Parts: sequence; structure tokens; C-alpha cells
Amino acid sequence: MSMREVDPPRPSPARVYDYLLGGRHNSKVDRDAAERVMRLWPVRELALANRRFLIAAVRRLTREFGVRQFIDIGSGLPTEQNVHQVAAPDSRVLYVDNDALVVAEGGNLLDGRQAGYIEGDLRDPHRIITHPETSRLIDPTVPTALMIIGMMHYITDADDPAGIIRDLMVHLAPGSFLVVSTATDTLPDEMRQAIDMYYRNPAAPLVWRSRETVERFFDGLEPVSPGLTAVEKWTDSEAAAGPWLVIAGMARKP
Ligand code: SAM
Repeated sequence: MSMREVDPPRPSPARVYDYLLGGRHNSKVDRDAAERVMRLWPVRELALANRRFLIAAVRRLTREFGVRQFIDIGSGLPTEQNVHQVAAPDSRVLYVDNDALVVAEGGNLLDGRQAGYIEGDLRDPHRIITHPETSRLIDPTVPTALMIIGMMHYITDADDPAGIIRDLMVHLAPGSFLVVSTATDTLPDEMRQAIDMYYRNPAAPLVWRSRETVERFFDGLEPVSPGLTAVEKWTDSEAAAGPWLVIAGMARKP
């Protein structure tokens, strides 16, 4: 599908994000939105730090823990060193996003039969787990990494995010991993306003969470060092440990 066919009239979070990461899969409306936000706050640095975390997490899962199956929910476009480009070549990767345009374009960017892209919503974990593409790619008896990167702030408390994660993790084999990064409630007001300017959808407002709340997503799992901490800490041990703008963590299912 060409850019023209999928060019939306409104900025798309996934395409704005692609632009922030230096990607080419975005249109003028996305670039303009990103530039407006960048004038208010250095959101590009945060997006890049978040992507460095994703890369570091996938590398560690691959090399240190031997993980070869990944489910990445809210994946955005599979470009700029996304999971299947960083994982070992024999890995199986299922990308999931609830933006149909992103899924259509993202699916076309995948090159191998070991990766798939489905339209799915984190708030409906049952549909993701029972999808035929999930069965094709993910062996439930083998450890899998569940990646939920830079998107938990789209899920409201009423949707029970900790419950959603439990519902997904229960289907994964022992030795599976949960990897999460999300915005926290210590983001300065001007940053929240900048992000809200184009991300905010009155039907689904963004949610900013405390570290303690995010910690509950990892209940019953064994944390991997350096633990739930500032996203920058995962790739730079010298980085300041707070205040938390985006926090990130990884943990193993016993
Ligand atoms: N995970 C990628 C990363 O960290 O680079 C992309 C993050 S992008 C900021 C957020 C993505 O989450 C967007 O592509 C958006 O369409 C998707 N998204 C938002 N709400 C979602 C939901 N309820 N279920 C699935 N995907 C969702």
C-alpha cells in the first residue's frame, strides 16, 4: 500500500512517533504535529530513550535469556529497530496495534513469515490470544516476551490494566517476560499539555500513573535489573534515577 493510499487527514500517534524516531513512514500532518509538540517540550529525546530501551530489552531477552517469541502490543510501525529487526533471526514476532491504518502499512513492512501484524486492542486480551495469527506464530509452551512499550497511558484505570496484563501473562509459558514502559504522573504539566495537544482523544484520555501503580503491573513476576526505573537507566547506568518521566521495567514469570 502506498503512503498516498493510507495518508490520513489527522496526525496518527504511530506516525508522529515514527517521525520523532527519525523514520520515513509519516506524512506532513504528522510531521507538523510533531514539530508543534517539540517546540513545547523535547519529546524527541524521550521517544529516542524509549526506543533505546526497547532495543536493549530485546537484546537482553535474546542473548541473556534465549527468548525467541515476542508479542508487541501497541507496536506502532515496525521500523527504526523495532522488535523483529533486533531479535535473533529465528525469532517469531507478533505485532498488535488498534490503529487499522498502522496495521495495514506495518504488515507490508514485514519481510519474513516469522513475523505478523494483527489489528487488536490491548483492552481485549482474549481476542489477541485466540487470534489465528497468534496461534501460527506463538507456541504457548515456549517462553514469550510480552512487550507493552510506550502505550499503557492509553489504557484507563476503568479498563483494569493490571488485570489485562494478568490475563495475557496467564497464557504464556513459565519463563516468559513482561516488558513495560509508560509515562508517569511526574511529567511536568507543559509536557502533558504538549502531548495532549494531539494525542488526546476525548473518548480515550491519556492516563499518567505513579511508579507504585506501574509496579502493580509486575505483581507475581521476578524483576530483572535494573528494575522499574527511569527509562534512560536501562541504557545508561549514569543517568539520573528521577524524576520519572517515562519509567520502564522488565520481569520474568516464575
Ligand atoms: N510501542 C512502540 C514504541 O515504543 O516505539 C510505539 C508506541 S506509539 C507511541 C503507541 C501505539 O499504541 C500507537 O501505534 C497506537 O495506535 C497504539 N495503541 C493505542 N492504544 C492502543 C490499544 N488500546 N491497543 C492497541 N494499541 C494501541
